[in-house]
Amino acid sequence: MADGKVNEKGITPQSENFSRWYIDAIRKADLMDYTPVRGCIVFKPDGFELWERIQSVMDGRFKETGHRNAYFPMLIPESFFQKEKEHVEGFNPELPWVTEAGSEKLEEKLALRPTSETMVGRMYSQWIQSYRDLPVLINQWANVFRWEKRTLPFLRTSEFLWQEGHTAHATEEEAREETMQMLQIYKEVVEQELAIPVWMGQKTPSERFAGAVDTYSIEAMMKDGKAVQAGTSHYLGENFARGFDIQFLDRDNQQKYVHTTSWGTSTRLIGSMIMVHGDDRGLVNPPRMAPTQLVMIPVGPGKLREKVMEKFDPLFDQLKEAGIRVRADLRDESPGWKFNEWELRGVPLRLEIGPRDVDNNQVILARRDTGEKVTVELDRVVEQVEELLVKIQEEMFQRALDFREKNSYLEIETIGDLNAHVAQMEKESKAVGWVLAGWCGEESCESKVKEETKLTSRNIPFEAPVVKKRCIACGSESKFTTWFARAY
Ligand SMILES: [Zn+2]
Repeated sequence: MADGKVNEKGITPQSENFSRWYIDAIRKADLMDYTPVRGCIVFKPDGFELWERIQSVMDGRFKETGHRNAYFPMLIPESFFQKEKEHVEGFNPELPWVTEAGSEKLEEKLALRPTSETMVGRMYSQWIQSYRDLPVLINQWANVFRWEKRTLPFLRTSEFLWQEGHTAHATEEEAREETMQMLQIYKEVVEQELAIPVWMGQKTPSERFAGAVDTYSIEAMMKDGKAVQAGTSHYLGENFARGFDIQFLDRDNQQKYVHTTSWGTSTRLIGSMIMVHGDDRGLVNPPRMAPTQLVMIPVGPGKLREKVMEKFDPLFDQLKEAGIRVRADLRDESPGWKFNEWELRGVPLRLEIGPRDVDNNQVILARRDTGEKVTVELDRVVEQVEELLVKIQEEMFQRALDFREKNSYLEIETIGDLNAHVAQMEKESKAVGWVLAGWCGEESCESKVKEETKLTSRNIPFEAPVVKKRCIACGSESKFTTWFARAY
């Protein structure tokens, strides 16, 4: 892995090689480690803490909207997968199987779950008898397995962590409302907390979840112009209800199938957050997600440390009391070494205080995102930190939004123009970005774009910035205005 192109922090610059930058940045920040099991990583404490913060925000929103958490088994009998034809076809290629226990071969082999619609379907068929049992609103926090050929920490691993919501409703209308509500929650959490702008929209049939009637997604642009599907919400219709015989006696005394939904977000969000905000100096965590929002570092000669600590300690307590996630770095290392380390870890704000600052009744605050430094009076520190954290959060979102706009192409009308655009960008080593294109709805046109340019349809945004009249591939009338991009 030796590469002469790394910077003084040991990180490959983004402009040099974005994927190498990503690996360098997460390793320097100590978020994960590889294991001897291919495609399976350890989430080290700093990486796991990012997940815990995402979890806690998401979980709060799920509960506010009436959902409760449960836990279903990780092993799913093979026969369950056969009950929904598209589902089995979609997931079979990446299922790991348990075939024996001890020295005995199992009568029926068991898959490590790739998702739980089948197990949930089976259980719901036993729990739901009457309209009085509906709706069922359950979420599960769990690990899932998809045996991937090409893996990338946090973004695509063979085992990953996620949440999967599974709901059952009496009517299509209600189930569709639920599907949209959860997509909206995903958008709000990802935009407000992770400071990542997303496009909400519908997936094309070829990109749909295996077994769904309709799949909706939020899609985010990374700093290399590629897309990440950051969350999905599916209206499953009666597909799983028929497969698993989930019927209820309705008010009109008729037996009916329920309408189900499922929705999920995963540890991909960690990878997205890093790829949207990180820079050549390492991670840049948005304040609302940062495990540590402010790190306090005493500076100046050791013999004057006592004088500094007289101000340092009460300030630390004040900040903590104000609810700021603050850490004091009192290790026996040079300030420069500490600055570097906390920069790599993406802590939004650093507070420096030395003997001269004590004399002047002040501290220095340094922003991770812009590098800007401000001098602040001691008795205004808490207030200033609070204001700055809000400001950094807003500006990080705005910067990501500006970047997205700059790398979105709205005026490419034909496949010829698209090929020329891709060639041009590749020649200049620039991001291909996202292309908003008309699409007639034919799968052959979608795959033509994919074959020629490696851009895939991301989603059909609910609110397209412009509406396209002609299909980019065949030139006939466009039915859908669709985002196309290269994706992780
Ligand atoms: Zn077409």
